[in-house]
Amino acid sequence: MVARLAACVAGVVALVGVGASAQQAQKPTLAAASAPLPPAKPSSVAARERLAPAKTLFGEVRLPSRGRPAAIGYYPRGCLAGGVALPVDGPTWQVMRLSRNRNWGHPELVNFLRRFAPLAAKATGWPGILIGDMAQPRGGPTVSDHMSHQTGLDVDIWFRPMPDRRLSVEERETMVATSVVAADKLTVDPTTWTPAHAAFIRAAAEQPEVERVLVNAAIKKELCRLEGRRHFAWMSKVRPWYGHADHMHVRLKCPADSPQCRSQPPVPAGDGCSDKELAYWFSEKVLHPVIKPPAKPPKPVMLADLPPACKAVLEAPPKTEGAIAKTR
Ligand SMILES: [Zn+2]
Repeated sequence: MVARLAACVAGVVALVGVGASAQQAQKPTLAAASAPLPPAKPSSVAARERLAPAKTLFGEVRLPSRGRPAAIGYYPRGCLAGGVALPVDGPTWQVMRLSRNRNWGHPELVNFLRRFAPLAAKATGWPGILIGDMAQPRGGPTVSDHMSHQTGLDVDIWFRPMPDRRLSVEERETMVATSVVAADKLTVDPTTWTPAHAAFIRAAAEQPEVERVLVNAAIKKELCRLEGRRHFAWMSKVRPWYGHADHMHVRLKCPADSPQCRSQPPVPAGDGCSDKELAYWFSEKVLHPVIKPPAKPPKPVMLADLPPACKAVLEAPPKTEGAIAKTR
C-alpha cells in the first residue's frame, strides 16, 4: 500500500517529468540510435484505436494536448483539447485523490475554481474547499465512476471543509467526503448537514458561468424548504441527481472559444421545488433500485463514438513542460 502510494506521489510530483520522458522517447538517444527501435506502425495505432475502449485510450494519457483549449462534444460524450491543471494547493482549496490525475480542465473551469474557492470559503466560514474529480488531461471517458466530466467543464466538490492545514498526499487518497443525506435518503442528515452546506451550494449556483449544480434529491428538497416561496433564479440551477450525497457536481456552460461544445438544454422553468418535480426522486425505484445484472455486458464507448475531433486530440503531441508550468 505504502509503496503504491509512494508511486502515486512520484507520479504526481513528476508530472512534468513524465512529459519530458515522453518527449525523450520520441527523440532517440545516441545509444538508442545505434539499435533503433522501429517506430510505432501507424496501422497498429489505428488498430488499437479501433479495438480499445475510449476510456482506456483517454485514461492512459498523462498530459494534455498541445494547442488551443477547446471543450469538444457533450458533457458525457466528448473530450478536451489544450487542458490546463488546477494547482493541487491553493490558498482556499486542495485537490484530493492526486493519483487519479483528474485535476485538468478547460481554462474556464480552472479560472472558475480559482475565483469560486475564496467565495465559497467566505460563504461557509470554512478554511477552503476540497476538490474531487475534474477531467483527465484530454478529457474523454474515464475508467471509473463518471459518465460525464468528459469535456473539462465538470467538477466535483466535497461536502467537507478543507482542514486548516495542508493535507499529505496519503491523506488525500484515504480521506472520505462526508455524506449529508440520512440513511433513508428522504432527508438531509441533521448530524452532518449544516447551514454552511446550503450557503456553499447557493454560492456555486449563483455564479453566472455555472450551468447546473447536481446534488442528491434530499438536499434539493431541503434547499426548497429553507427558501420557502422565495423563488431565486439560482435555485433552478440546483438539480437533483443520483448519488451526490457527499459532494456537489458543478457544471459550467460551453465556453465561447469552443464551437464544438454541445450545450445542455436549459433547465426547466421554475425552481424545481414542486412535489410533482421531486416525486420521481423519492419513488421506490430510485430509493431502492433493484439492480439486475445486464443480460450481456454493455458495449463500451469507442473512439469512433466520440466527436471526430477527439481522435485528433488523442493523437496530438503533449504540451511541453514550459507550457504546463506557465498555466500553473
Ligand atoms: Zn461529478
